[in-house]
Amino acid sequence: MSYFQPQFVSDTAAVRVRFGPGVSREVGAEIDRLGKTRALILSTPHQASQALLLAEDVGARSAGIFSKAAMHTPVKVTEEALAHARDVGADCLVAIGGGSTTGLGKAIAYRTDLPQIVIPTTYAGSEATPILGQTEKGRKTTLTDPRVQPEVILYDAERIVSLPVSMTVTSALNAIAHAAEGLYAQNRNPLTTALAVEGMRAFASALPRVKDDPADLDARGETLYGAWLCGAVLGQVGMALHHKLCHTLGGSFDLPHAETHAVVLPHAIGFNQTAVPDLLAPVTEVFGGTSPGAALHDFANRMGAPLKLADLGFEETDIDRAAEIATQSAYWNPAPIDKTGIRNLLVAAFHGRSPGS
Ligand code: NAD
Repeated sequence: MSYFQPQFVSDTAAVRVRFGPGVSREVGAEIDRLGKTRALILSTPHQASQALLLAEDVGARSAGIFSKAAMHTPVKVTEEALAHARDVGADCLVAIGGGSTTGLGKAIAYRTDLPQIVIPTTYAGSEATPILGQTEKGRKTTLTDPRVQPEVILYDAERIVSLPVSMTVTSALNAIAHAAEGLYAQNRNPLTTALAVEGMRAFASALPRVKDDPADLDARGETLYGAWLCGAVLGQVGMALHHKLCHTLGGSFDLPHAETHAVVLPHAIGFNQTAVPDLLAPVTEVFGGTSPGAALHDFANRMGAPLKLADLGFEETDIDRAAEIATQSAYWNPAPIDKTGIRNLLVAAFHGRSPGS
């Protein structure tokens, strides 16, 4: 099937991507290539030991380590990291971790324009986008700016084998969500559709193998390849219902990022499937099944993903408020959005029913 469109715009950033097991050990050479000499290494507290190992690889080019990255990029943490970067005279950033650490690097780059090297250890895909979400005084805001796009990405399967299987599965579904929503984005183009389909294919093929053997470097590599493609889709086209709903649930109800994506995805795609059946057809082609929403629900179930909002700490009594918040501001979506429809979606997601059942 051809993804040709009679008219489109393609807008891609110049990003250097290196791929392969062990490639992140050459991060020092990448710093040299940027013409930089003092890298600030970033991580979460949980991955401080990985940052330390990386500092050894970087050697004299390491200006220091800042290991306080946190979920949703709190501005307070960014300000502390900025002060640290100035104190140590950092001239570039190396982020090792998932979306939270990448987010901290992006937040520093947004304020300083320091070049960034990212070594992703989840499949969230933030490294492939010029998007930055930040939290201040309990409010999360999102911006898009070319300064935020990392210059170099080192996809190294050896760095992701430590990701626990449960997080591996939810993070993969987070990535698949970028691709699935990219299929019907208003500003999609043939390239983003091809990336989305290939990204989903990579996860459909490799995720079951990673689940069987989390240390399988070939399978881990293929899932990272999927993360790159799905992240590139997120970076190039607009998202709709699924991402907005996850933003509401994460921001207003403090639900965990990747798990929320995993639970909501089949329902958001099920909600949109009758409006754009042709555009969503690749989902059933890749994952099997009779409809895109059910196909994603079955795949998530087979992979052992959480299926119920009830299991993520969301209360049944919150459904009405969530439907209210999610329909407060208008945004484009293939199927018209109204409070009753979103309420029904949330009820199905709360109980973990298959969409359409
Ligand atoms: P995360 O970065 O918050 O990681 C979750 C936890 O897992 C952290 O403690 C982390 O240290 C740990 N971890 C990560 N990789 C590990 C590994 N290989 N082994 C062991 N532990 C590991 O989770 P995430 O889902 O990658 O990122 C979520 C954040 O990223 C959210 O704030 C989300 O909004 C943001 N995000 C932004 C974009 C964007 O384009 N701006 C895209 C996707 C996600």
